[in-house]
Amino acid sequence: MERPLLITSIMKHAELQHPNREIVSVTVDDPCHRYTYRECFARVRRLANAFGRAGLQSGDRIATLAWNDYRHFEIYYASACAGHVCHTINPRLFENQISYIIKHAQDKWLFADPVFAPLLASLESSLGGVERIVFLTDDARMPKHSLKRAVSYESLISEESEEFDWPELDENTASSLCYTSGTTGNPKGVLYSHRSTVLHAYASTLADVMGLGSRDVVLPVVPMFHANAWGIPYAVPMVGAKLVFPGPKMGDAETLHALIENEGVTFSAAVPTVWLGLLGYLDQNRKGVGRLERVVCGGSAVPLSLMKAFSERYGVEVQQAWGMTETSPLGTFSALKPETAGLSGDEYDAVRVKQGLAVFGVEMKITDDEGRELPWDGKTFGTLKVRGPWVCSGYFKLDESPAHEADGWFATGDVATIDSDGYMQITDRTKDVIKSGGEWISSIELENTAVGHPAVAEAAVIGVRDDKWG
Ligand code: AMP
Repeated sequence: MERPLLITSIMKHAELQHPNREIVSVTVDDPCHRYTYRECFARVRRLANAFGRAGLQSGDRIATLAWNDYRHFEIYYASACAGHVCHTINPRLFENQISYIIKHAQDKWLFADPVFAPLLASLESSLGGVERIVFLTDDARMPKHSLKRAVSYESLISEESEEFDWPELDENTASSLCYTSGTTGNPKGVLYSHRSTVLHAYASTLADVMGLGSRDVVLPVVPMFHANAWGIPYAVPMVGAKLVFPGPKMGDAETLHALIENEGVTFSAAVPTVWLGLLGYLDQNRKGVGRLERVVCGGSAVPLSLMKAFSERYGVEVQQAWGMTETSPLGTFSALKPETAGLSGDEYDAVRVKQGLAVFGVEMKITDDEGRELPWDGKTFGTLKVRGPWVCSGYFKLDESPAHEADGWFATGDVATIDSDGYMQITDRTKDVIKSGGEWISSIELENTAVGHPAVAEAAVIGVRDDKWG
């Protein structure tokens, strides 16, 4: 049957099949908020009614400036399933980039954690097009602010009905939007659709990818503003697993440890810097990791020492993934296959430091400067190119994208080898940017800032290896 692939179906399925599964969150105003999928999706319908009452139209962008928690999760579903676009903004960007992004996306509403009230105050001149600001809290805990049009989330939805007739959207309807920083120029928007999101969620739950099931308890530490937290907020309700959100405490090893132990977390996802922090905390305080079995790590290369420490000392498997905002983000995932499962020692280490096998749905190749395809011999390196149903075909409201080639391939800006077993390994980057803790630092941006100082004539910014930040 031709049924559309909609995020709405994930929500309806989770509510019917797993109504009592819990979602636990640390929020700015509550150290341990707990409710079920059933309660969650009832609130999602209230929020959708609030959007309708305010006259929001299909395709309108609804921005978030928020940490990972249940209210952010509710906005993901209410906006996308009502036909709007959930635009997640990275609060760690420079202020001028955030204001550019808000204006470029023409955001109609902006949901923000109360801690971002000062940031919003300094951005106020660029918020002209934003009709309403909603702080993710209740009336009693509203932050001090001078912003016009600001209300609390709880007051917004309190009077709304729990009934809502979800529209049957075309599966190619846009569902979410995320900007990524480039070398030069402004951040570029990547627009995801219901179809791309659902397909990506299916793929990510496969056994040799994240391997998720309803008995899992999943802690996404990777921010919900970073490529939709690697798709976890969709994949987890799809399989009916319990969700644990760390809120503003995503960088706090003590809180992460407490959540892992107390909530029975079996699976988690974060950049290497987070795991290094947690490892230090566990080692120093002689703590355990409860039921934690698997951790997916990506965003930048995963150090072998980190994988070894977790597997040898804590029995936790750290699996590497590679992807980009442009690829939703899952591209490759490091899993063992019969050819590599029997390896040990250095041979095993040589496999696990690789970024992994293409996930079904993503085609990859490496090419030379003339675009000729290079062999999969594990030695020859070239530009990594990918294509697939959850790879973006261009950037939001940009006519030109040199990275998108006429034959449908997307040039990632990464340089890689692929071995005869199909394992891809990143060896270099062609883009002039540095990653720190999984977030981009534009070398050009820093050089311009340095050169802006009257005593500096020239500046060159280079990346330097750091034990914590990568
Ligand atoms: P972003 O769009 O911010 O997610 O950044 C994507 C980029 O991060 C990729 O093009 C790579 O350069 C880098 N990256 C992501 N995952 C890995 C990984 N496992 N190892 C090395 N680099 C990675």
